[in-house]
Amino acid sequence: MKYKAFLIKYAEIGVKGKNRYLFEDALVKQINHRLKRLDGKFFVTKESGRIYAEAEGNFDYDEVIDTLQHVFGIVGICPVVQIEDTGYEDLKAAVVRYIGDVYGDKSFTFKVVARRANKQYPVVSDQINRDMGEVILEAYPNSRVDVHSPDVLLRVEVRHRINIFSETIPGPGGMPIGTAGRAMLLLSGGIDSPVAGYMIAKRGVTIEATYFHAPPYTSERAKQKVIDLAKLMAKYTGPIKLNIVNFTDIQLYIYDQCPHDELTIIMRRYMMRIAERLAKEDECLALVTGESIGQVASQTMHSLAVTNEVCELPVMRPLIAFDKQDIVDISLKIDTYETSVLPYEDCCTIFVAKHPVTKPVLKRIQNSERKLEEKIDDLLETAVSTREIVRCS
Ligand code: ATP
Ligand code: MG
Repeated sequence: MKYKAFLIKYAEIGVKGKNRYLFEDALVKQINHRLKRLDGKFFVTKESGRIYAEAEGNFDYDEVIDTLQHVFGIVGICPVVQIEDTGYEDLKAAVVRYIGDVYGDKSFTFKVVARRANKQYPVVSDQINRDMGEVILEAYPNSRVDVHSPDVLLRVEVRHRINIFSETIPGPGGMPIGTAGRAMLLLSGGIDSPVAGYMIAKRGVTIEATYFHAPPYTSERAKQKVIDLAKLMAKYTGPIKLNIVNFTDIQLYIYDQCPHDELTIIMRRYMMRIAERLAKEDECLALVTGESIGQVASQTMHSLAVTNEVCELPVMRPLIAFDKQDIVDISLKIDTYETSVLPYEDCCTIFVAKHPVTKPVLKRIQNSERKLEEKIDDLLETAVSTREIVRCS
């Protein structure tokens, strides 16, 4: 068969009131973008609180479902059979055909729930329920009505056309991308930051990313790994502009001038400064990191406070209270885990001290940074102006 259309259910949160159309339009746009990349032509339409994706011609069912399961804002995908209203007998026939196509001759319990949105339709909902129940029982002797917990909940919605559907495939939830402004993700090759980016994007935020690499201390493979992660994330977030900043000279300069137990924290402060500058250039409203309290020395409460001190923009840390295993579970779900655990070096791990400070004191760190005054502005300027931009989709 069978399906040529999908009814898309979206959450009600945040879509009430006079901004509702903005959310719906953003969702329609996102669905259109994603389906456009597949074989087959789709029409995505919005119609009295419903979004439909209708296919013209052939398409790969599994591919469409998989694509829609990556579009934030969708809570459910209902493959639907849509028929024109050509008479009540035709509706009965269509319902029997639908059950046959989807459930065959299996034994199942069912319940019909009709909804007459078109009040001109001559048969009331209760009567539709009874009549459709009757024809199903007649056509499928192995079926039985169960109004409390049926195997099959068959919905018949009478609108200007009639929708027949019974399956709801879960969507990813969240808000459509493009409804909540833009944020700059500090994306490393680790497990955490892709998950952090995914979580913020899930709230409708457009994601841009910055990666700091340190050639020749970090390899091309490490850089490619980050590009690959951004591409994996893009399946959910849509295209990501990835800024790749060469951080080597800044790191070496810090290494030369500052106490080694403060390297990580000072380095992190410079990463935040650069990311914030790029963020502001592109009108991002916040930074996003994959930090989580206590995971490493640079993520103690003290270290986070000192790192945060250089930022004017809000820094979003969606994983702040997550245990590592919970983060791993999400990375497995969104398919970034396998790539994240590839064993390529990270610039943070190359210049770390054996015993980094876990309780940095802001005044002391600021003092150490004064030793960088001579060259740091030029180095920052160069790092920003020589950055490479890769569009990941
Ligand atoms: P992740 O798994 O995300 O790499 P992590 O547990 O390794 O995190 P850190 O290395 O301390 O932790 O990094 C904390 C956060 O700082 C990361 O989640 C990321 O947002 C950012 N970050 C770290 N290294 C880089 C980098 N090389 N480029 C861009 N951002 C980075
Ligand atoms: Mg890391």
